Amino acid sequence: MKVFKFGGASVKDATAVRNITNILSLFPNEKIVVVISAMGKTTNALEALFKAYMSKANYSEELQTLKDFHLTVIGDLFKSKDHPVYDIFDATLKELQAILDKEPFDNANYQYDQIVSYGELLSTKIISHYAHDNGVNNRWINAKSIIRTDNKYREANILWDNTNEQIKARVENKFNEVDVVITQGFIGSTPEQLTTTLGREGSDFTAAIIGAALDAASVTVWKDVPGILTGDPKVFESAQLLDRISYNEAIEMTYYGAKVLHPKTIKPLENKGIPLNVKSFIEPKQKGTVVEKLEQELDYKPITILEKKQLQIKVRTKDLSFISEQNLSDIYKVCAANQLKINLMQHSAVSLTLVCDDKPYKTKHVLANLSEQFHMEIKSDVELLTIRHYDYEIIYELCKDKKILMESKSQSTYQIVTIPQPS
Ligand code: ASP
Ligand code: MG
Repeated sequence: MKVFKFGGASVKDATAVRNITNILSLFPNEKIVVVISAMGKTTNALEALFKAYMSKANYSEELQTLKDFHLTVIGDLFKSKDHPVYDIFDATLKELQAILDKEPFDNANYQYDQIVSYGELLSTKIISHYAHDNGVNNRWINAKSIIRTDNKYREANILWDNTNEQIKARVENKFNEVDVVITQGFIGSTPEQLTTTLGREGSDFTAAIIGAALDAASVTVWKDVPGILTGDPKVFESAQLLDRISYNEAIEMTYYGAKVLHPKTIKPLENKGIPLNVKSFIEPKQKGTVVEKLEQELDYKPITILEKKQLQIKVRTKDLSFISEQNLSDIYKVCAANQLKINLMQHSAVSLTLVCDDKPYKTKHVLANLSEQFHMEIKSDVELLTIRHYDYEIIYELCKDKKILMESKSQSTYQIVTIPQPS
């Protein structure tokens, strides 16, 4: 059996949904679990709704935009106004409304998950019906019944044993009836059935979890790019397609911020030796990139990764004494407690400088906490450029006009933090 993952761009409108059924029909009589994200920019729209709800503002406009967007797609996909998908859509929105009717309370991350998870619930219900009507017999599974997590809302951790058991039992059960099972990426639930999410762009990870649990022959992530490139083609025009890369290189690339895959995707597949294909949903017959076990590492071309909107935090002791091991440990503990990933770190005698993603729902707690003990200097909106397998030519070419705040070099990886130039 195989696992396919379709992200937001691959289900952004009715034409895109039709394309998915075309891709599925290229694989007749194969058992396939299809993991689907929210349509287009729906998760961003739900985040806007969540923000309005939490601040007790009027959210009717955000909710209406969400409804109108999905109703346009449904209207285009289903010719009959009496199609059962309309009732299912209404019932799903009523559930969401019931959540919004309650007063917001203190646990923002919990409430985020309850609201933002509706993007995937809506997209999969619509696509499951459309696929069914168009010759792809399938069953819909609620990911909340198979993906078990702890209660770290907004970035929950997988409870592996329970998750593997649920996936095996429930998906295999459906495979006795049909070849195609459709479920949501990104969402899960605690053992108490409370909805959780796995972090933005987490649907890739869901596909890997399911693939590993079922010992899939392969997992394929369908994208709007031809595969994994040596850089994001929207940022680096000369980026080239990589035919194959090792699990290790994929882990490193995503760790440094390559957006092509969610960083947690690779490990479960590597553990089971399951190949990961990254392919174009526009040209589904092209080979794309295979991420797999390689006995010997390849000689890679330079791979470039640009992370924008980074926060640089410079921490000093208040009495200007040395930064001690105890201080370092305190600082790291605060970051870990708030699940803040540090993208680059340097320290001198009296200061420690960190660079991290500017996610205010995490950083505001970290900064508040650190400021009790330390002096801090903050620079927002800096950029982190990483070059894997660098040579001096590419460093010169990419860095020559930049104002460099920090620089770090290891045998395989070169990184700089810069202030972006006004465009
Ligand atoms: N819909 C979620 C997001 O946009 C998850 C995903 O697309 O992977 O972050
Ligand atoms: Mg997405």
